[in-house]
Amino acid sequence: MKKYTHAWLAFMAIKRLDCANIPEELKGDAQSLVKWFHDYRDFVIEGAWYPDQVFKDMATSHIIKYRPDTAEREQKFKRLPRTMQCYNKGMKSPLYKKPFAIEEGNCADRCESIAHSIVDCFKILRTEERGNPISTTSNHIAMRFFILSHYIADCHMPLHCDCRSFSSGENIHGFIESEWDKQVKASYHIDIPNNRFFYDPQGYPLANKITPLVQEVENDIVNREFLYTWGNGNNNTWDYISAVSEYSYLMSYRLIPKEFDEKNLTKELYKSSEAYSRLGEYSSDILCDAVDSIARVWLHVWARYRKWAEKR
Ligand SMILES: [Zn+2]
Repeated sequence: MKKYTHAWLAFMAIKRLDCANIPEELKGDAQSLVKWFHDYRDFVIEGAWYPDQVFKDMATSHIIKYRPDTAEREQKFKRLPRTMQCYNKGMKSPLYKKPFAIEEGNCADRCESIAHSIVDCFKILRTEERGNPISTTSNHIAMRFFILSHYIADCHMPLHCDCRSFSSGENIHGFIESEWDKQVKASYHIDIPNNRFFYDPQGYPLANKITPLVQEVENDIVNREFLYTWGNGNNNTWDYISAVSEYSYLMSYRLIPKEFDEKNLTKELYKSSEAYSRLGEYSSDILCDAVDSIARVWLHVWARYRKWAEKR
């Protein structure tokens, strides 16, 4: 995904924690995270873009690449919360329960390690004396939250979980992501020189001409039921992101059917395909799920730290 899409998804995750119907026992955690985030909102665009701009670990940590395997066996798929669209649609895929092989990528490991490091940093921040040169800062932790959101969002982009390389040739991958970024840029007022959004009175990106796709996401993040669970059988960020990657792989074959690969798919052919006519629907599924996941992972991280802090 591209720069403004990443920042916007992170912002929408906070808006979701603020405006969705959060279960009573988590309301305090959600509200305090929202409040904390608002002090750092000017840095979301920059922070959420570091992985592409500075780390450039696209070939390893932004992906988990799957390919269908020919072996004769039933493949066990992980589960996800029932509100996830990639889960509901993935289970209907002809590739569901069919064997797969993972060729490369460590996006789930990356997410798990950043989630851990955020909790660790908070603990250091609370333990060390102010001004201790080895200590961390809240700015630094906020940056790590934004970086984490990048990797979570990327895992939801189906083509990041598909061995077929649609970044080569006519770069259908880049084409789809550019379409999303154009929509985000058209939908909000962005303070380009200062690399931040302008804000509405509630502190969220100020609406310009909201496109239908962006509006769908804005509606979904408020209306979608908030489930804190990782999904049955999943116990941590790693399990969860691994599960997301499995369903992202299944979604990829909806986005671009199996008869296509990087060698035979041109932009023109893609635009005339049946799958392209449903790109709007799939885009909404992908982006809404990404926001839901960022909010879910962030809240888990924050709650873990708060639980530790309470016991001190
Ligand atoms: Zn990326």
